[in-house]
Amino acid sequence: MTQDAQQQAPQQEVDVVVVGAGFAGLHALHELRGRGLSVRVLEAGHGVGGTWYWNRYPGARCDVESTDYQFSFSEDLVREWRWSERYPRQEELLRYLDHVADRFDLRRDISLGRRVVSAVLEEEDVTWTVATEQGERWRARWLIMATGCLSVPRLPMVPGLEDFRGDWYHTASWPADGVDFTGERVAVVGTGSSGIQSIPLIAEQAAGLLVLQRTANYSVPAFDHELGEEELERLQQDFAARREFTRSSALGLAAPADPRSALAVSEEERRTQYETRWRMGGLPMIGAFADLMVDRAANETAAAFFRDKIRAKVDDPETAEKLLPRGYPWGAKRVCVDSGYYETFNRSDVTLIDLNEQPLRRITPRGVLVGETEHEVDAIVFATGFDAMTGALMAIDIRGRDGRSLRQAWSAGPKTYLGLAVAGFPGLFTVTGPGSPSVLSNMVVSIEQHVEWIADAISWSRERGTEVFEATQEAQEAWVEHVNAVADSTLFTEANSWYLGANVPGKPRVFMPYAGGVGAYRQKCDEVAAAGYEGFRAVPAPGAERRRADRSAPVVA
Ligand code: NAP
Repeated sequence: MTQDAQQQAPQQEVDVVVVGAGFAGLHALHELRGRGLSVRVLEAGHGVGGTWYWNRYPGARCDVESTDYQFSFSEDLVREWRWSERYPRQEELLRYLDHVADRFDLRRDISLGRRVVSAVLEEEDVTWTVATEQGERWRARWLIMATGCLSVPRLPMVPGLEDFRGDWYHTASWPADGVDFTGERVAVVGTGSSGIQSIPLIAEQAAGLLVLQRTANYSVPAFDHELGEEELERLQQDFAARREFTRSSALGLAAPADPRSALAVSEEERRTQYETRWRMGGLPMIGAFADLMVDRAANETAAAFFRDKIRAKVDDPETAEKLLPRGYPWGAKRVCVDSGYYETFNRSDVTLIDLNEQPLRRITPRGVLVGETEHEVDAIVFATGFDAMTGALMAIDIRGRDGRSLRQAWSAGPKTYLGLAVAGFPGLFTVTGPGSPSVLSNMVVSIEQHVEWIADAISWSRERGTEVFEATQEAQEAWVEHVNAVADSTLFTEANSWYLGANVPGKPRVFMPYAGGVGAYRQKCDEVAAAGYEGFRAVPAPGAERRRADRSAPVVA
């Protein structure tokens, strides 16, 4: 639809427009509706679920344990939902989110198949007009961007894809009815979390698999298992205490981080600690010692442990050497969690190609050209990641004060106050935005904290009749400075990771998430609220009083 046609489309009015119906959007709708606000959720997908709606590739599952990766806002919901495995599969997460949408009667306020293309502030009235590609316009005082951090898939800039005669897929926009690779020769490009999860399953099905690796990653085994009745019962009983713990933890995970330095213990003790954490399976490895992400020598002890593990798992020493991560600190790229990834390279029908030795030059009609060799394949899977954290926001033409776009405001990298708000964009909130712990944390814990904080802020503002809320430039600059200072004190900035936007050509190199920890961040947000939303200013909105008087539902603080 053209921009002119969008401007002509009839307008509907609500208190809040939420963009996205994943964990964040569903929770925002439930929370705000409960406070008497009218809400419209606009979702591009044809179902709810966000990341769990789109990422249907083989082996897709969350690397946070199911019991910690669920909503806590309803004790009944926690009691009712029976997780079947320690790490939830995509199908189960999607079923869970569908259940949440039904259980809390959320669907009546969600419009599916609506891609938001613009959100324009009408300064006089301090309201947002949100337009969809499908031709609707919604007006709202508040705009909540629950667009996800990993929701804009990226294809590599390799020529020739349009000539490829086989089928190709991206892990993050996988066909809903699945793909059968039986009898096919398949190439997978990319060895991040999505590649590492899908490669073992694709290898099992395909007639032959080529893995095209540019950067080897560190991966820890999941040690996944089905949850028996007794274990599930115990997890459910412990849920409240676990969640309380995660809220003040560094990463939003239930496994306590060890406060010791990796360098303060004997080699034997260190080895025992790594071995213990390794056997716990999954992300608790990150908390093995306190200084792994701030001290290069400490970090190297973890890296060496991983290298030994990889060598022990892979039969062919040459292949094992290629699989060893090099040139960046352990953990500075997202640590992956796998089930049988390294072991897959012991299969005779799986070949690892190191693109550092020979580059991927082009896609040909019959396959992939690596160096001078053409490898014929029937299908290509791109597990090549996302335009992370800012991609979904930048894809929308968001215009704030003086018609200034978010793209302009963030041209040198994203700038937010607390990862929640942007100066010059009154009434707009981002959930798990850049400048918040976000992708460095258990997303559900961070989403709940953001949604509840935003809902409190909206209630607070409405109670005062001011209606709109805007981050000040000074508060934003101070926060950005703090986020950068914390990042600079870590090893995160030493890898070419998507955390820094390094995977997207031309994207400003800025470390986007806040590395100060979930607990410290929550405390800061709470202090800001307790001080009357310090760093924000209330913007008088014409018509606010009238609208308040018109509302029948009460406003609950
Ligand atoms: P990713 O971590 O960005 O990995 C993309 C992979 O594609 C990297 O190996 C990258 O190599 C490679 N690549 C990109 N462009 C390439 C090119 N032109 N030629 C060759 N290789 C290329 O993406 P992802 O695996 O989808 O994961 C993204 C994030 O999503 C994860 O870090 C995680 O936060 C989340 N995720 C979580 C789960 C889970 O919960 N288990 C599962 C999947 C994803 P370089 O490293 O050299 O750029």
